[in-house]
Amino acid sequence: MTSDNGLQLQRLAEAEPTIIPRDAHSISRADISDNALKVLYRLRNAGYQAYMVGGGVRDLSLGREPKDFDVATDARPEEVRRLFRNCRLIGRRFRLAHVHFGAEIIEVATFRALHPPEDGDGDGDGDGADGERVIENGRIVRDNVYGTLAEDALRRDFTVNALYYNIDDFSVVDHAGGMDDLEAGVIRLIGDPRERYQEDPVRMLRAVRFALKLGFRIHPETAAPMHEMAGSVADMPPARLFDEALKLFMSGDALDAFEILRHYGLFDSLLPLTAEALEDEGNEQWVPFIAAALRNTDERIGADKPVTPAFLFAALLWPAVRRREADLVEAGEAPIPALQQAAAEVQAMQQARIALPKRFSIPMREIWTLQPRFARRGGKRAQRLLGHPRFRAAYDFLELRAGAGDAPAELAQWWREFQEQPERPPSQKKKSSRGGRRRRGGRGRGKGNGEGGGNGTAASTPEESAE
Ligand code: ATP
Ligand code: MG
Repeated sequence: MTSDNGLQLQRLAEAEPTIIPRDAHSISRADISDNALKVLYRLRNAGYQAYMVGGGVRDLSLGREPKDFDVATDARPEEVRRLFRNCRLIGRRFRLAHVHFGAEIIEVATFRALHPPEDGDGDGDGDGADGERVIENGRIVRDNVYGTLAEDALRRDFTVNALYYNIDDFSVVDHAGGMDDLEAGVIRLIGDPRERYQEDPVRMLRAVRFALKLGFRIHPETAAPMHEMAGSVADMPPARLFDEALKLFMSGDALDAFEILRHYGLFDSLLPLTAEALEDEGNEQWVPFIAAALRNTDERIGADKPVTPAFLFAALLWPAVRRREADLVEAGEAPIPALQQAAAEVQAMQQARIALPKRFSIPMREIWTLQPRFARRGGKRAQRLLGHPRFRAAYDFLELRAGAGDAPAELAQWWREFQEQPERPPSQKKKSSRGGRRRRGGRGRGKGNGEGGGNGTAASTPEESAE
């Protein structure tokens, strides 16, 4: 199998590329960062080949602003380091030079060779035992064999990511048909899709991400193996999946990402416990709950407001927490310890899939475990909760829950009013329908007629009528 794909790519690498001259494409040096230009020119002036590649070429061709600029060269990482004082070599799996300019980092990669056809020495790494390229079970775990531009182009993931802007004559070099796909709006893997996903399952997530970001469609052949292979994403390192998940859910298209990931079965690989909870019968509130959280995230990003992965993951995992909590309560555990335990278990299990750094997982847990405190409003309790450093996030979370019928609307409304006039707490009315957590008897025995008491306009607030 590998050799089919390998041979096909090898033939392509030997074919002549399409060269798009400077007046036939829309990339202008004025749009490339000064630092990237500095790196490109210095490499060229030292006698090396130097190209801008990847997202920079792709996005500038589409008239979009690139997130960062990547450089490809025939200079070895050590040679790159010698040229730049502000340069660090990083990565074991994939050795790279990072050239630092204050906050901006220009990533400089040396051309990689294609994976040669099965080499027959039995270890499947295609190069004997020098350890520069390591392939295990068809998966690339190390890739430091250097090659030509053509080879480098064909081992990139998508055709639109394999365009090279040549600083020597300002032309674009296209070995994979990327320019046509850019014009047609197509995300297409280079080579045999199954093998490319087997080499690196994260490419499935990248296909979804680029399709969303660029408004492109995924080519049918690139999409075809996804349903079947989506499960292999689960074997990827949790730190890498954290990076990819953030890019998917914090780029302004989270709601669409959620739908497409679910469509391909990729959501299950990222958030298996949530995926299970979404399938539970009688729990139809969870898809709208997550959709509302993601829509809210997208709107905040659209408005340049900050979003935190803590809140995002609190929402993404909440259906799983609630499900586990319900099981524990059913088994006889009291509600609050049940929630604590469910939170701990879900977090620990999820951690094995997506590595959430502590600075996010700690506030995430707090958002969850503060939820029962909203129900206890007597005495000074409400005041104290208002002063809690995580109050705002936890309250926003309560609103989200109330919107999906997972907490009493009355409770969210009470807190909305209370924040406006903490010195005059609104009265607590008896709940007619309890959408929320089941409480033991005796709670929520409010004064009855909370209405008419002066601040009763809240029933028609925008928060209530939205959704
Ligand atoms: P953006 O930076 O906007 O997310 P990008 O295309 O620049 O998009 P990067 O992750 O920065 O994406 O990677 C730079 C380039 O490296 C890609 O355009 C692609 O050519 C190549 N590349 C990145 N990851 C992979 C991968 N998993 N498999 C093959 N090629 C990859
Ligand atoms: Mg990039």
